[in-house]
Amino acid sequence: MSTSTPARAVTLIGAGLAGSLLAILMARRGHRVRLYERRADLRQVEQDSGRSINMALAARGIAALEAAGMMDRVRPLLIPMPGRMLHDEHGQLSFMAYGQRPHEVIHSVSRPGLNKVLLTAAKEAGVQIEFERAATGADFQEHRVTFHEARSERIEECPMETVIATDGAGSVLRHAMVEQLNIHCTEDLLEHGYKELTLPPLPGGVHRIETNALHIWPRGGFMLIALPNIDGSFTVTLFLPHHGEVSFDTLNTAERIDDFFRRHFPDAHALMPKLVDEFMDHPVGIMGTVRCAQWAHQDRLLLLGDAAHAITPFHGQGMNCAFEDCRELDEALADQSDWVSAIAAFEQARRPNANAIADMALENYLEMRDTVRDPQFQLHKALSLALERRFPERFVPRYSMVSFHPQIPYAVAMQRGRIQQQILNELTAQAGTLDAVDFKQAAILIEQRLSPIAHAAAGH
Ligand code: FAD
Repeated sequence: MSTSTPARAVTLIGAGLAGSLLAILMARRGHRVRLYERRADLRQVEQDSGRSINMALAARGIAALEAAGMMDRVRPLLIPMPGRMLHDEHGQLSFMAYGQRPHEVIHSVSRPGLNKVLLTAAKEAGVQIEFERAATGADFQEHRVTFHEARSERIEECPMETVIATDGAGSVLRHAMVEQLNIHCTEDLLEHGYKELTLPPLPGGVHRIETNALHIWPRGGFMLIALPNIDGSFTVTLFLPHHGEVSFDTLNTAERIDDFFRRHFPDAHALMPKLVDEFMDHPVGIMGTVRCAQWAHQDRLLLLGDAAHAITPFHGQGMNCAFEDCRELDEALADQSDWVSAIAAFEQARRPNANAIADMALENYLEMRDTVRDPQFQLHKALSLALERRFPERFVPRYSMVSFHPQIPYAVAMQRGRIQQQILNELTAQAGTLDAVDFKQAAILIEQRLSPIAHAAAGH
């Protein structure tokens, strides 16, 4: 395949989700790609448990995987989740669809399963992968990156020439760049952490609760969620404040843990026999938002994925956004004739979108753990879908724009989402049910305030 930017030797640091997908895309464009990874090869060594074992893949991620020709291999790993299954305190269930067309579903996918498929394809595409080599620092005067080779304990250096850092939220390369180039960067940690647990299958690998749903137990200040795995189990994640009265700090004895789950999540408690042991064993994860004023240093170093813009997981978009980065960088390299212009075009287009999904993810946390239970919120959701049915060219619910419409940039989804929220507020100010909504007024407001969605897709 020909490239518009000249083919180069490219060094990628971090063979996680973004690094391995980007390696495939770049190798296919004829670049010579070397991919360094701190961990051992996860196709040979079991990954640590307790760290986001499965995740939700949506249309943006799928579009990028398709661009890399990966979907045939990824599809068998997917479990469709067409909606949220809400569990109340008494174990009563209610299902809320995410979208309204057959393809408007998100998919549960195993993180290591997906990573393994991408690593294998990268290798097949000719990528040279170096495991157990951790980047330890970078020198922006000498233009060198330093690595530690775990087995030999050797320190190696490589020139900082077309290096792309995909080393995740705690990126060593980002920290070096921020320190040495004096770049403004914020890392806002959330007051809440998370812990992953298992809801095991019935004998024969059968799911114990509805397979095709993202389960949520919203409890106001905290929540439990569960995503299905193909072995019949669910990965269950508790999101809870680190400190305070009800917090990870205070859940510090077997009795308290058991009591907490029995009280707040009785139906889940009954299905998780190893709950207390796992709770004691598994680490508490941290979450936060990274915003960095600069992602690139000339054409020598570029931050991408979580390394550039880690976000909280409440919209299920971190990986999707990182995959979209990969696709858009690949397209920028095809469109531009030199690396500096391609990187500049990429950064300029992506930063507003990364900021927007970071904001929407934070807003979604409140929605998932609290407002989802509110009848007014449920009316707004139902009305959004009704408006989309009547005015599909102009009104698309924000969740759908983010999850099912990769052609609409995140920043546009956020901006249109605000206008739509105002319309929903106005239409339900006097109407307590869908039947009482004035749809003639809806038509007027939508026509006045929302441009056709085709314009939005073009970024207007
Ligand atoms: P990572 O996947 O973190 O990969 C970084 C890689 O770099 C790793 O392999 C790491 O070992 C390697 N590395 C790190 N440091 C070095 C070094 N110094 N040298 C060499 N290698 C290094 N996103 C979604 O889209 N949907 C979801 O449902 C979802 N759920 C989530 C749930 C939780 C609890 C969390 C925490 C996150 C979730 N995310 C989700 C976000 C998603 O996990 C990240 O956005 C995604 O993993 C980013 O990919 P990445 O390749 O940039 O970083």
